[in-house]
Amino acid sequence: MTLISSQLSDHRPATDAAVRALTGSGIPVHLPGTDPYTALTATSNLTKAIRPVAVVAARGSADVSHTLRVAAATGLQVAVQGTGHGATETMQDAILVSTAALDELTVHADARWARIGAGVRWAAVLEACAPYGLAALAGSSPHVGVVGYLTGGGLGPVARTHGLASDTVRAFDVVTGDGVAHRVTATSDPDLFWGLRGGKGTLGIVTAVEIDLGEQAELYAGAVWFAGADAAAVVRTWSRWCELLPQEGTTSIAVMRLPDLPMFPAPLRGTTSVTVRFAWTGDPATGEEMIRAIRSVATPIIDTVRVMAYAELGDVHTDPTDPMPLHEHHSLLDSFPGEAADRLLELVGPDAQCAQAVVEVRQLGGRVRDDRGVPSAFAHRDAAFSVFSAALLLPELAELVAQDTVRVHDGLAPWARDGGLPNFTDSAGPQWAGRVFTADVAQRLRALSLAHDPAGVLLGARGVRS
Ligand SMILES: Cc1cc2nc3c(=O)[nH]c(=O)nc-3n(C[C@H](O)[C@H](O)[C@H](O)COP(=O)(O)OP(=O)(O)OC[C@H]3O[C@@H](n4cnc5c(N)ncnc54)[C@H](O)[C@@H]3O)c2cc1C
Repeated sequence: MTLISSQLSDHRPATDAAVRALTGSGIPVHLPGTDPYTALTATSNLTKAIRPVAVVAARGSADVSHTLRVAAATGLQVAVQGTGHGATETMQDAILVSTAALDELTVHADARWARIGAGVRWAAVLEACAPYGLAALAGSSPHVGVVGYLTGGGLGPVARTHGLASDTVRAFDVVTGDGVAHRVTATSDPDLFWGLRGGKGTLGIVTAVEIDLGEQAELYAGAVWFAGADAAAVVRTWSRWCELLPQEGTTSIAVMRLPDLPMFPAPLRGTTSVTVRFAWTGDPATGEEMIRAIRSVATPIIDTVRVMAYAELGDVHTDPTDPMPLHEHHSLLDSFPGEAADRLLELVGPDAQCAQAVVEVRQLGGRVRDDRGVPSAFAHRDAAFSVFSAALLLPELAELVAQDTVRVHDGLAPWARDGGLPNFTDSAGPQWAGRVFTADVAQRLRALSLAHDPAGVLLGARGVRS
């Protein structure tokens, strides 16, 4: 607390000048200690608290432009947040632009596209598209924000059939770090269009996005849960099954150690279990044949795989919705053969001493690899699997959890490759950029950042500029 106060006081004159300039223009600004500030700085991972010097509740691109110009003039930086599901920076010397109020949402059903404000979450888009049998490429959690997700690529439960969400973007309304508002399409500005898809917040603050919608009214999808005692058979079968799964199927497996808390279903809480998630976009009868190999490994303790409305996509992963203190990590694999399955079981199976609440392996491939002929800054399309871990981070367990995370990801090193996905990587700045971008991608983003943000106002560009 002492540290934060002294850091704030170091910047007091700049903050005061910026706040005066912004409020003088009628822009809603919220300062620490107020209810709107507290609400707009909430984060879903409680270990990722953010402490911006002020929050601008943007009402449109004019507010964003003005904020960026005022920040440049007063020597402050600007960060952006829609929902707080992906916070990584502390933002302690920055003004935060909150896009939460940018809630426009229009579905053009006949032409199969939607215009979506930067404050909208996937749940609202899924609901708006449902009456038309149209599908937007949301991620595992409908509570995540559309723009934060798809500027990071966006790898969802039907990714192997329909590809990355960022590849469905038709246009962005974005304000670059120099305060200039642009409408960016593949033809109007191919460079920014390239960089905004996969580059996250490095190049600008998006105020609205337009995306193509697919025709997918229903899925055959859900999750099959097994007791920890069956984990070995399930994980080994899953690794072989993935080799045969056509791209109509997207799947992941997760070993869970859920705490004994009422928020989790009775058969899963306080125990180790393993779950296979499955989303089949083709004929449900074929999907049923496909998942039979998994269902027959052992007797499931919960089986939710069924024909479901596409809008129920969040039921595939059933991600938690309550904020929690988590230590998360992520890595990429080139393959997940039987030996990797055995290693995973040694590392996190029911007999392992393991601090992780969840260790998830997602199969990539299929249309994730297909950039539809319009390249983007999403750099690691050809990875075959993604590994994500999350452990509850209680202060007294911090060191143990950090060591355990290294143990798990290093343990899978024989199958690992360099790199990470922008949305899953739990770090910020150069460390994040070094993992999620190739050198070529980082260099091109840096050149674009220097051109569109000469004063270096955007905090999100820190990684590619330093
Ligand atoms: C429960 C859960 C499930 C998830 N599942 C998936 C998944 O299946 N697939 C996947 O790919 N990711 C997944 N993620 C990761 C998620 O996509 C990222 O954390 C994403 O950044 C969240 O976006 P947000 O807008 O909700 O978060 P915010 O915290 O609001 O924003 C996070 C970051 O996104 C960028 N950003 C946000 N708004 C803007 C804007 N207007 N302009 C420019 N940049 C912006 C910025 O870099 C910002 O720091 C999941 C996250 C959670 C918490």
